[in-house]
Amino acid sequence: MTSHEMNQADYKVVSELPGNDSCVDCGAKHPEWGSISFGILFCASCSGGHRGLGTHISRVRSIKMDSWTDAQVERMKRGGNHQCQEFLKSHAMDFDRKSIRDRYDSPAADLYKSVLDARIAGTPEPTELPVRSRPTPPNNSATGGGGVKRKMEGFGSSPPPQQRHDGKGMKIGALLAKIFCCFRCCFEPERQIEGGVVGP
Ligand SMILES: [Zn+2]
Repeated sequence: MTSHEMNQADYKVVSELPGNDSCVDCGAKHPEWGSISFGILFCASCSGGHRGLGTHISRVRSIKMDSWTDAQVERMKRGGNHQCQEFLKSHAMDFDRKSIRDRYDSPAADLYKSVLDARIAGTPEPTELPVRSRPTPPNNSATGGGGVKRKMEGFGSSPPPQQRHDGKGMKIGALLAKIFCCFRCCFEPERQIEGGVVGP
């Protein structure tokens, strides 16, 4: 599959889609980054938030600096900021008050991606929110057509903060011990000096 810079004609089509004149997330003008996953445009600042979600949720590309495959450009043409926002809002999402993670790492966002897939493939659009994997049910009858399987193997960049087991507690203990040690080392010699040398 060949990739190339997004040409002017394609960029014109994408940038003129409803809502694409400003960042989908913060409203900044002339967004120059996009998510292939959602077919949306956003500013450089919000692109960081999308990158933080991982490529399994939002694949970020620069309009100007990255190369694009024809399929990726086509997906951007089928998307659009307004369309995505309206879709999420229509699934009971209070879009304006949500963080980037809450917006795009959500069942409604998963469904929107499946709808985009279907529109491009010319297949019937799914309408049911995908069931997200939870730790408990061993029942796999719920993984129907629109089900989205989430892979939690990270891409090396963003492990969930609450699941770290890197011995941070031990590090804090060692740090405290060191501070206490320095306190003793530094404080006691000073006391010895106090008696003799220091004077007016
Ligand atoms: Zn923005």
